[in-house]
Amino acid sequence: MKITFVGTGSGKTSLKRFHSSILISSNNHNLLIDAGDGTAKALLGLGINFNNIDSILFTHYHADHFGGVASLFTQMKLNGRTKPLTFITHKLLVKHLIDFLNSTYMFFEIAGFEVKITGFEFGKVYRVSEFINFIPKQNNHIKQKEELKNKNVPFLSSSFYFEVEKKKIVYTSDIGNEKDLYLFEKIKTDIFITETTHVELNDIFTAFQILKPNEVYLTHIDDEDEKIIADWIDNLNNNSKFVLAKDGMVLKL
Ligand SMILES: [Zn+2]
Repeated sequence: MKITFVGTGSGKTSLKRFHSSILISSNNHNLLIDAGDGTAKALLGLGINFNNIDSILFTHYHADHFGGVASLFTQMKLNGRTKPLTFITHKLLVKHLIDFLNSTYMFFEIAGFEVKITGFEFGKVYRVSEFINFIPKQNNHIKQKEELKNKNVPFLSSSFYFEVEKKKIVYTSDIGNEKDLYLFEKIKTDIFITETTHVELNDIFTAFQILKPNEVYLTHIDDEDEKIIADWIDNLNNNSKFVLAKDGMVLKL
């Protein structure tokens, strides 16, 4: 299996990094996690064929994780895609995904390929392919503020545990606080991928000591934080387990 960091930037648009997107490739199934604004261009730059993506899973609907889906979907149509595509999102967000695509005049009926949608619930196990399973859990990244309580949008953000060809991977994406690092604490993970914008580096290190994953990949990197994170890794005693992710980085497991 292979993990490709397609976009490793934060919510701030950067000239150095694309917004969030990660590709998990396993035995003929390519699962894209998030499609932040600009993901189609990021994939193009990495030589990844849009039409080889089998499914797209979303952590949450902020623009840096979701804003690129309409453009990516459009590219699939323009590039003559014929194979089916599956969107995977929280079941309460299915309507919003469809509305968003329809607002850009992208309708499944005219895509030229079959589009399926899986709406998940937190805490259940889902099978993406023969070798990819995941469990979604709600994290605290998106909270409905009092003044927004009448907005008809589900305020939901997910973290995921993946089992890919027996490898155990946790991907936190954007979280609310350090407690969200422990959502899958009972699982001894091989690869732990966490964002770095909404959590302190020392809290990530504490979680690493408790959870003991084999490797930690730090992503969602703000330009202003990049040097701070790189220096922090350099100064760790046992720093070989920590990696600052970069766009285009590929892990082969
Ligand atoms: Zn983000």
